[in-house]
Amino acid sequence: MRKKVNTFLVSNLSLPFDAEDSAFLHIAGQKMKRMGISPDMLHFQIYKKSIDARNKEDIKAVCSVLIRVSEAVSVDTDRLARASIKPFEEKEPEIVFGNEKMMGRPLVVGMGPCGMFAALMLAEQGYRPILIDRGGDVEDRVMQVDRFYREKILDTSTNIQFGAGGAGTFSDGKLVTRIGDELCGYVLHTLYRFGAPDDILTRAKPHIGTDVLRGVVSRILSRIKELGGTLIYRCCLEGFSVGANREITVKTSCGDIACGCVILAVGHSARDTYAMLGEKNFALVPKAFSVGVRVEHLQEDVDRSLFGRLAGHPKLGKGEYNLSYTGGERGVYTFCMCPGGEVVAAASEEGGVVVNGMSRYARDGKNANAAVAVSVLPSDCGNNVFSAIAFQRELE
Ligand SMILES: Cc1cc2nc3c(=O)[nH]c(=O)nc-3n(C[C@H](O)[C@H](O)[C@H](O)COP(=O)(O)OP(=O)(O)OC[C@H]3O[C@@H](n4cnc5c(N)ncnc54)[C@H](O)[C@@H]3O)c2cc1C
Repeated sequence: MRKKVNTFLVSNLSLPFDAEDSAFLHIAGQKMKRMGISPDMLHFQIYKKSIDARNKEDIKAVCSVLIRVSEAVSVDTDRLARASIKPFEEKEPEIVFGNEKMMGRPLVVGMGPCGMFAALMLAEQGYRPILIDRGGDVEDRVMQVDRFYREKILDTSTNIQFGAGGAGTFSDGKLVTRIGDELCGYVLHTLYRFGAPDDILTRAKPHIGTDVLRGVVSRILSRIKELGGTLIYRCCLEGFSVGANREITVKTSCGDIACGCVILAVGHSARDTYAMLGEKNFALVPKAFSVGVRVEHLQEDVDRSLFGRLAGHPKLGKGEYNLSYTGGERGVYTFCMCPGGEVVAAASEEGGVVVNGMSRYARDGKNANAAVAVSVLPSDCGNNVFSAIAFQRELE
C-alpha cells in the first residue's frame, strides 16, 4: 500500500548494551537512506529502548528511533514493514462534543488515574468539573499511611488505596501496560508535562516511582483547580437521585451536590459503592481478576541471574523478570515486579490483610518483590460481582 508519510518509526535496532544513543540514531538514518527515503531528516529521537539479556555473554540494547523528514513522501508501507520501518502517528484523544446543554457542572467521583485524567480533560475544555474523593490530599495520605505503619491504626477513608492520586500514588509507579492502546503515548506525555522525568517517554518499561508520582499527582490536581475545577477531599459518594428534568443530585458524606452528569472513577476497592449501585439495580458486569502472594528476594540475586558477570553495570539498571506457566485453562504468572522496592501493607478495610509492591524512582532498595498470581474467572464466582467480592474478602 502506498501512503504519504513524514514521520517514521525504525524498529528492532540492536547494538551492544553499552552503545551510545547516537549510534542508534546513526544506524536508523542509514536504514532510511537504504530504503530510498531522500528528503532531509530533520528530527531524530530515541522512541523506546530495552535490554535483551537472553544471552548473558552478549547482552544487547534494543531500540526504536523516530525520524521526521522535511516533507511528506509517498512510500510503499509493505516494503518498509519488511525492513521494520513504519509510518508513525501519535494519537491525541478525540473529543466529541454533545449538542445538548448540560444541566450543571460534571462531577467526577474518584481522584485516581481514571478520575484525574477525566477531570483534566474536562477542565482543559472549559467544563469546570467538580472532583471528589473519599480520601485526603497527598499530604494527608502520607500522614495516614505513616500512622498505619507505625501505630497499626487504619483510616478506612484515607490509605494506600484511597485519596488523591488513587491506588497508584503509593505504588511502584510502573507505567507499563500490555493493552497497546494508541493513547498510551498521550498518557505518558501528560505525566511528563506535569513533571515526570523525560526517560518515561523512551524506556520500554517506563517507571516513575512513588516519590516522583506524588508531585505529578499534586500538579495535575492544582491545574484542574486553576482551570476552574473544584476539588473536594474526604467526600464520599453515598447515593444519587435523578430529577424529572434529568438534573442529578449526588448524596455525599459532605452533603448534597447538584451536577449535570456523573463519572464514576471509583477504582477496584470501592466495595461499598458497588453495593450501593447493586441496590439501585445498575447492571454490574464481573470481570476476570487475579489473586496471589508477594515473593521477596535480594535484588543482587535477580541481577546476577539475569546479567551474570555484568550485574551492577550502570547501563543495565536493575534486573526485572516475568515468569508464567499455564496449566489447563488457568495461568500462574508473576506480575508487577518491583526491582529495589518493598512490600507494603495496603488494606482499606478493617480486619483483612492486603499487600502490594512499591518503590522509589531510584529503585535502590536491597530487595526485589513480585506478585505470583493466578487468574480467577467470572465463572469461578458464579458470574456474580458480589460473590467475587465475597471471595476476595474471605482470602483477605
Ligand atoms: C500499592 C499499589 C501498587 C500499585 N502499583 C502499580 C504500578 O506500579 N503500576 C500500575 O500500573 N498499577 C499499579 N497499581 C494498580 C493501580 O494503582 C490501579 O490500576 C489504578 O490506580 C486504577 O486507577 P483508577 O483511577 O481506576 O482507580 P483508583 O486508583 O483505585 O482510584 C479510585 C479513587 O476513587 C476514590 N473513591 C472510591 N469510592 C469513592 C466514593 N464512593 N466516593 C468518593 N471517592 C471514592 C478512592 O478513594 C480512590 O482515590 C498499584 C496498586 C497499589 C494498591
